[in-house]
Amino acid sequence: MAHEILHKVLIANRGEIALRVLRACKELGIRTVAVYSTADSELMHLSLADETVCIGPAPSAQSYLSVPAIIAAAEVTGATAIHPGYGFLAENADFAEQVERSGFAFIGPTAETIRLMGDKVSAKAAMKRAGVPTVPGSDGPLPEDEQAALAIAREVGYPVIIKAAGGGGGRGMRVVQREEDLIKSARLTRTEAGAAFGNPMVYLEKFLGNPRHVEVQVLSDGQGNAIHLYDRDCSLQRRHQKVLEEAPAPGIDEQARAEVLQRCVRACIEIGYRGAGTFEFLYEDGRFYFIEMNTRVQVEHPVTEMITGVDIVAEMLSIAAGNPLSIRQDQVKVQGHAFECRINAEDPDTFMPCPGQVKQFHAPGGNGIRVDSHLYSGYRVPANYDSLIGKVISHGPNRDAAMARMRNALEEIVVDGIKTNVPLHRRLTRDLGFAEGGVNIHYLEHLLAEGQA
Ligand code: ADP
Repeated sequence: MAHEILHKVLIANRGEIALRVLRACKELGIRTVAVYSTADSELMHLSLADETVCIGPAPSAQSYLSVPAIIAAAEVTGATAIHPGYGFLAENADFAEQVERSGFAFIGPTAETIRLMGDKVSAKAAMKRAGVPTVPGSDGPLPEDEQAALAIAREVGYPVIIKAAGGGGGRGMRVVQREEDLIKSARLTRTEAGAAFGNPMVYLEKFLGNPRHVEVQVLSDGQGNAIHLYDRDCSLQRRHQKVLEEAPAPGIDEQARAEVLQRCVRACIEIGYRGAGTFEFLYEDGRFYFIEMNTRVQVEHPVTEMITGVDIVAEMLSIAAGNPLSIRQDQVKVQGHAFECRINAEDPDTFMPCPGQVKQFHAPGGNGIRVDSHLYSGYRVPANYDSLIGKVISHGPNRDAAMARMRNALEEIVVDGIKTNVPLHRRLTRDLGFAEGGVNIHYLEHLLAEGQA
């Protein structure tokens, strides 16, 4: 892969994902540039990168979200490509465009694709055209005309959910139970969406009562080849934030699964998708409903790597270099089961972020355990960014075995000096309901509410 496009990769991110990308580059003999803010000079991957560039002060708006700072860093170091990781600028179409205009390769889809998928109304329409099942709803923006809006909601059936076209991160959504609240709620959501996302457009869909969150990982080379790497279940969420994920999703109807996997692959080919991507679905009563597509590598990608043996980040790099996919669909086999626990620097009871100095860090190990973390003893977790400090991933020949390994790993892990959510994960991996498999997206919140009662 010593292609000239991948002569030197700038990693436009921080923390565990920056380390993940750096490791992949080093394995492939690609030179690396790490960028960091002044709050991040202790990041582990800085000491492993070929070059480092300070791109600004602690606030992300002036560093990790600063397009000029990142492009300038790429220019001064002679980087040839930029990997955005997840979060920050990863799904910013303008950034992808600027990167390519400045002569660097963007390791991800084209700006056009990011834009299409970033607007949930156009994304949903594109998926519907491509034959991917979607949640019944307004098929486009919710009309401003009140009678027309009411008619659509009546047709769909209450409860409905009004969602901002430009929304993300679980924000810009409102559930409407009764017809008399529809117009008021639509108005409110429009106003909020305009203020928060600079786009007041909203759409409406049926509100599903007890769905699971099941997503499909894809790889597509933009040259007519696409494959899926099966599915993940990310239903354990708190405030729409994923906490613990697994692959494959347990207890899915096999025919519905085969169908949706095929449709995702076909959609990739149809839209000329390039890179790694995730189709997110709600799954209820044996049916899949598309909600959005993420056009980047995801936090939970390791569970898929563990069960398929495919290195998703390496494949992203290879695709960016212009290579066709290195694996065919019939070479992708599911081997066993995997879990991932997101370890956050936060109070396990209040969920308040808990930055500070890590006095002691001991990573768990053993057969089937993987730890993706930038922590080390003495590292200071800054208060400025996301509280994710690492991920513990377990793999086993079956779900029970992978769960048992995760329980061991969670007993072994030591993060002293700051509070973490490890106690929550210990509880979850001993929870009988979760052990059965297939809990819905409300399960964790209910469990937490019970714990407080
Ligand atoms: P975001 O981009 O903000 O994450 P999503 O469209 O992915 O928004 O939705 C986030 C979460 O909101 C989903 O995981 C689910 O919990 C809930 N949600 C979204 N749409 C629906 C729906 N139609 N019915 C029920 N819950 C929904």
